[in-house]
This record gives sequence, C-alpha cells and structure tokens, in this order.
Amino acid sequence: MPRPNPRLVMKFGGTSVRDLDRIRNAAEKVRAEVARGYDVAVVVSAMAGETNKLVDWVRGASAEPGERAAFYDAREYDAVVASGEQVTSGLMALTLQQMGVPARSWQGWQVPLRTSDAHGAARIEAIETEALDRKFEEGLHAVIAGFQGVAPDGRIATLGRGGSDTSAVAFAAALGAERCDIYTDVDGVYTTDPRLEPRARKLDRISYEEMLELASLGAKVLQTRSVELAMRYKVRLRVLSSFEDGPGTLVCDEEEIMESKVVSGVAFQRDEAKVTLLGVADRPGVAASIFGPLAEAGVNVDMIVQNISEEGLTDMTFSTAADDLARAKAVLEAARDAIGFREIVADAGVAKVSVVGIGMRSHAGVAQKMFAALAAEGVNIKVITTSEIKVSVLIDRKYLELAVRALHDAFELHAA
Ligand code: ADP
Ligand code: ASP
Ligand code: MG
Repeated sequence: MPRPNPRLVMKFGGTSVRDLDRIRNAAEKVRAEVARGYDVAVVVSAMAGETNKLVDWVRGASAEPGERAAFYDAREYDAVVASGEQVTSGLMALTLQQMGVPARSWQGWQVPLRTSDAHGAARIEAIETEALDRKFEEGLHAVIAGFQGVAPDGRIATLGRGGSDTSAVAFAAALGAERCDIYTDVDGVYTTDPRLEPRARKLDRISYEEMLELASLGAKVLQTRSVELAMRYKVRLRVLSSFEDGPGTLVCDEEEIMESKVVSGVAFQRDEAKVTLLGVADRPGVAASIFGPLAEAGVNVDMIVQNISEEGLTDMTFSTAADDLARAKAVLEAARDAIGFREIVADAGVAKVSVVGIGMRSHAGVAQKMFAALAAEGVNIKVITTSEIKVSVLIDRKYLELAVRALHDAFELHAA
C-alpha cells in the first residue's frame, strides 16, 4: 500500500474569493501546495459582503415592508446565509479543475459535518471523514463550504459569523492535517488591528492562549471558536496573506515562543452598550432574576458590576453588544415585577478596549499602566474587568481610536 499523502487545510476568507480573479489567485496557491505533494482540503468563505447581504434579506423578509426584523426563524436564516459558501465552493472547484487540479465541492451536509441544534450559532459536534478520505485516495482534492453543517434536525446550520475559520480548524483536526493555513487580507496577526493603528506590528508567533483572548475580545482576524479548537487539538494554525508572499503568523504553544512581552496586543469591540438597573433590591437571588431571563432570551452579557448597597437598594450595571440592547431592555421591562427596580439607564455609545499578554501572569502593574495611559489622554473608564492574562475597560466609543493608540504606545507594541 502506498503511504497516504500529507494533508493540508487552506482556508480563504471573503476578500480572498471576492470575484473570479481572486478565486483564481487562491486556486493558484492551492495548486502550488498540491504540487508539493499535499492532499488539500480548501475551506472557503462566501464572497466579501455576500453574507451581510443575505442577513439583510432575512431581516427584510421577516418584517413589515421597508423594515428590518430583530427576530427571525433561525432555521430559515441558516438556509439563506449558508448559500454564500455554496457558491464559492462550486466556483473554486471549477477553477481548480480548469487549472488541471482534480477537485470537487462539498457542502457541510454532504461531508457530513454535524453540529448542535443552535441554529445561527451552532457548534461542531463531529466530522465524518470517510467519504472525504475515499475521494482523497482517488486523487480528488476537496473544496469545502465553510461556516455550515447539518443539525440533528437534518437541516442546514451555520456556525456564527466568521465561522469558516472554525470549519477550517475542525477539518484540520479531523483530517489529521499537517497545518491549517488561514489566508486573509492581512499578512498575519498584528499587535492590534492594523486598520486602526498603522504602527501595529506583525507577530511572527502568538500563543493559543493570547490569540484566544484577542479573538474573544474583538480581534476578528480569527473566530474565537477556531482558536479554542486549535488549542484543544493542537492544530498548527497559520494566518497569512492571500495577496503577498510571506510566512504570516504561527499560532502555537507558549513554549515555542521566544519573544515574550508583558503585553502582546490590544483588542477592541466598537459596538457595545451599557445598561444600569437603578434601585434594585439587594437580596439573595436578585442577580439570577436579572441575568436568567437575559440568558434565556439569548442576550450575551459581558461585564457585570454591582454597586455597594445603600438602604437595601443597589445598582447593577452590565455590558452587552449594541445589537442586543433593544432586546435586553425589552426582556428587563417584561421582568420588572419579578426583579423589582426603579429605572433602566442605557448607554448605546460605549466600546471595550483590552490589553492581552501571558506576561501579566508574572508582572504586576499592567492595569495601573493602562489606567495611567488612558488618564493621560483624558479618557474616562466606565467599567473594568481583569483576568489572568487580560485587562478590559469600557469607555465612550468616541475615544476608541485614541485609547487603542495610546495603549499601543504605552506598552511599546510597535517596537520588536
Ligand atoms: P476574512 O474575510 O479573510 O475572514 P476578516 O475580515 O474576518 O477576514 O479578518 C481579517 C481582518 O481582521 C483584517 O482585515 C483586520 O482588519 C482585522 N483584525 C482585527 N484585529 C487584528 C489583528 N490583531 N491582527 C490582524 N488583523 C486584525
Ligand atoms: N461568510 C461567513 C461570514 O461572513 C463566514 C466567514 O466568512 O467566516 O460570517
Ligand atoms: Mg473572518
């Protein structure tokens, strides 16, 4: 029996498959890896902008004419938004064939990639690779529609926005790929979003832990779940450019990293909202009576602060995505009697900025340095949270750019 070829997963994001020229450019990269002897599983996103357009259509169709619905049938949402990847997978397979690389497309359900029943934000539960394995043996490379799978109800499910990254890592783990290469419109992971801070520096390597924090705190270069999976299954993950050659950034174990700064990066979430319930009775169970209904309604609560109580009453503040604010307010109003509060005060104009670094485990003073840098720019901090390797603050959105640049400077992230 001949030994099977080594395998590689190559994922191309929206801008990398924006039109036929870009698809051809991506396909050239696939051809080069095939020539090096790899069996390649290509994972594709929808063309840039396509998923947003599809989501808009879903909202439009679910509301009165001219309006956009906040609620819709998540199964039909999935049926519609998964279609963007169906198009690019077929086009990529055709382009590869035209170049002489034998390939076929796979939709999530065809593989099958099995997911949980959480339509719209499903988790991957299993990938059955037998059919793919057989086709690799026949010399056929795979082009897989990212972002989608099949739920237990037999219907199409999607993995949440940015989910093609997660598809790619999951396939790399399931197929035993040597590496998972994420091709995108930047040439690696930077100390912060290079679109906001031109002085941001590309990192040669970053640890899974730090990448996980950066992603979950807003750096959308990788979907959070993809980093979780890569860490759990020890997938070697590389982020690199579709448009220029270069080594990109390797996401790997801490032990493989030589350079170690206290802070490795700054992440931000622009569209946050802050909600305060004034005059809440300070009694056991009150937090559960607030956050229980919010969780049931699918509102993701992030930071939480409870004030010291006076005369048995306290204030409770939390943050959530700006998109969820209307729903959060509606849920709290509906639960007003059960909770018991005087007033809801909402601020839709906040943003979250975080500094991340594994060096914080052994260095004190990071939070202090962060607060001082923000104070020097006159930026007021509204809420603070910390964990072992990050400090996050909520600030007025209008100061977001200023704050990110000030922190990037204060921690000297531009310097190698
Ligand atoms: P794709 O469509 O290829 O999945 P995304 O738009 O999802 O690409 O992610 C790439 C973008 O992530 C970059 O264009 C960049 O603006 C943004 N980004 C945010 N934070 C970072 C960071 N720390 N390093 C690199 N890119 C970042
Ligand atoms: N097309 C999907 C999105 O825009 C998935 C992805 O690109 O990763 O969210
Ligand atoms: Mg993405």
